Amino acid sequence: MDTDTVVRSTRRLALRLQSLLLLLGLGALAQSALAINVAFDGSCATQADRTAVSNAVAVATTWSSNAYNQVNNNEAAFRNNQNLAYRTWFGTFNQDRYQRVRAVLDGVRFKLNSGSTLTAYCRVNPNDPCDAAGDIAATFVNVRGDVEAWFCTAFFALPPRVGFDTQAGSVVHELTHSIGHTDDIAGGYGVAGAQNLAANRPSDAVENADNYEYYAEDLYD
Ligand SMILES: [Zn+2]
Repeated sequence: MDTDTVVRSTRRLALRLQSLLLLLGLGALAQSALAINVAFDGSCATQADRTAVSNAVAVATTWSSNAYNQVNNNEAAFRNNQNLAYRTWFGTFNQDRYQRVRAVLDGVRFKLNSGSTLTAYCRVNPNDPCDAAGDIAATFVNVRGDVEAWFCTAFFALPPRVGFDTQAGSVVHELTHSIGHTDDIAGGYGVAGAQNLAANRPSDAVENADNYEYYAEDLYD
């Protein structure tokens, strides 16, 4: 679904200790990848809200890794337009568009598997950026380092992970904004709009956050 995004005019330089988890991880977890650290603003006041956000981020981490691997490992099939999910959400094959899709998904999965921090704000409606009716979530565009994300009231009414327009898919959607500099393109809202972009305006489809969300969700339907 469409979500509000905040355009950030300045970029923060974040210095992080990426090795911290390795120092603390000990032997049994040595093979585990880093995962983004979710920090909660005081607006995330209930354990239920915190659990919903944490679970959505965890599922999005798995989904974005698998979506990236699907794209990265199947170029030949995509090139022949033999992959229904890819064609449905990103249109007929084109090398530049394929590389764009791969780069966006690579950025999202890398961020979610990094030692960065995602600071979550919950149900801050009706204040910006959750001020418009139906807003689900928001983030800054093109962030480096740590990420801030707003989970509006509507987010918590979505199904966690089954079907389209899920909580986990919304995290993928937002991260494509913050990492991949995607947009919410007019006419590309919702399942029907995103499919229409892929079929008729594929150059827009690969720039539209919903198309990435639905591709990831489609892999799990
Ligand atoms: Zn959006």
